[in-house]
Amino acid sequence: MNTLIKNTTILPAGLEAPVKGSIAVEGNVIKYLGQVPVDFAADTVIDGGKFIAMPGLVNAHTHSPMGVFRNLADDLSFDDWLFGKIIPAEAKLTEKDVYTCCQLGIAEMIKSGTTCFADMYLHMESIARAVSETGIRANLSFGPITSDVRGNGLIVDTERCIHFTKFWNGAAEGRIKTCVEIHSVYLFDQPSITEAAGLAKDLGLGIHIHLSESNSELARSAEMYGCSPIQAAERLGVFAVPTLAAHCVKLSEREIPLLKAGKVSPVHCPSSNLKLGNGFAPVARLLNEGVNVCLGTDGSASNNNVNLFEEMHLAALIHKGNSQNPQCLPASRVLQMATENGAKAAGFGEVGRLAPGYKADLILIDMDKPHLCPVNDPKSAVVYSVQAADVDTVMIDGKIVMQGRQLTGMDEARIMAEVGEIARRVCKP
Ligand SMILES: [Zn+2]
Repeated sequence: MNTLIKNTTILPAGLEAPVKGSIAVEGNVIKYLGQVPVDFAADTVIDGGKFIAMPGLVNAHTHSPMGVFRNLADDLSFDDWLFGKIIPAEAKLTEKDVYTCCQLGIAEMIKSGTTCFADMYLHMESIARAVSETGIRANLSFGPITSDVRGNGLIVDTERCIHFTKFWNGAAEGRIKTCVEIHSVYLFDQPSITEAAGLAKDLGLGIHIHLSESNSELARSAEMYGCSPIQAAERLGVFAVPTLAAHCVKLSEREIPLLKAGKVSPVHCPSSNLKLGNGFAPVARLLNEGVNVCLGTDGSASNNNVNLFEEMHLAALIHKGNSQNPQCLPASRVLQMATENGAKAAGFGEVGRLAPGYKADLILIDMDKPHLCPVNDPKSAVVYSVQAADVDTVMIDGKIVMQGRQLTGMDEARIMAEVGEIARRVCKP
C-alpha cells in the first residue's frame, strides 16, 4: 500500500526548518520527502494543500486505561488522590475492563495526534492486545514486582515477565516494544527493586519508573533509603539500562549528572505536575545539559486527558512564566521533546522524524481554520495555536488510522458506551 501526500507544508523534525513539498510512503516507510518522482505509483493520494504534515506525537508516559477515572478525584493532595481514591478504584478493574478502557485511551490519543505511547498499568497483556489490534505503536512496561500471596512481602515474578517479553517484545510487526515497570522507589523496597532492575538488564530491556515527583516522595525516600529517589534508583541499578523516568520535578544540582550518565530520559508531564501541585521540572536546564527530555500526559486521573497538544502548549508557557525568561524553552525544543526525544526514549529510533528511511508515523493538521489563520510560522502555530481537534489524518506504520477525524478501525461509540458502564461499577465509593 503506497500513499502520496501532495503539495503540503512539512515539519520534518522539531529542530529542522519547514519545507514545502510532498511525502511518498511505500509500505510502512517514508520513501521520498520534498520532491517525489512523477512515476511514484500511489494507491492513495491525499491533497496536502491545507495541511501541515509532521511526525506523530509520542506520549512518553501515560497509564492509557485511566480515562475511566477522569474527573473522579480532583483537587486533592497527592496522597489523598493516589492512596485514598485511585488505588481503591483500580482494585475493582477486571482484565477485560482494562482492555476496553485502553481502547478508549488509544482512540483519544489517535484523535489528538499521538502515534506512539509508553504505558504503565495493570493487566499489561490486555493493553498489548488493544495496541496490537488498533494499529498504534507502544512501549509497554510489565511490572514484575508483586505481593507474595503467602504473605512474604514483595516478590519478583521473573517467569511472568520473561513470558510477557517473549510474547510481546517486537510483536505487531514491530509496533510493540516492552520494558520492565518499577512503579517507583517508594512503593517497593531495596531487594525487589534491585532484583527487578537486574532482570531488565538480563533481558536487554529498559525500565519505566516514576521518579522525584512530589515532596512526599522525597520524604518517603529519605526514610526508606536515606537518600533522594534519583540517588536510590541509581544505587539500586535502575540506571544501568535505558530508563524512562516520569516527572523528575524535584532535582538537585548533583542529580543532573546521574541522569546524563545513566541514559535516563526524564518525561515531563506538565498538566499532572501542575494539577497535583508538585511544581516545575527543570526542563530547560536538563535540555541545555544534553539530557533527552520528552513529554507525557500521565494518566487521565491526573490530567484529565491524554492530549499532547495541551502538554506542548503548557510546557512552552509555564517555564517562561516560572523563570521569567521568555527565551528559555522555544517552540522547536518543545516539538522535539514531543516527537524525536520521546521516540528515542521509547526505543523507537525509526520514528519521531519525517525523513526517507524512517517509518511512516505522521499526522496531517488542518490549518484551514480561523484560529490558525494566517500561518506565519508553522512550528509556533503547532505549539501555540493548534488544538488537538485540528488533527485531520493520522498514519501509523504506513496505515491510515484516522482520516477526516474518523477512526478507520475502531468503533468509538461502542467503546464509549462500554467505558461508561465500567465507570458506573468501579467509580462508586
Ligand atoms: Zn504516572
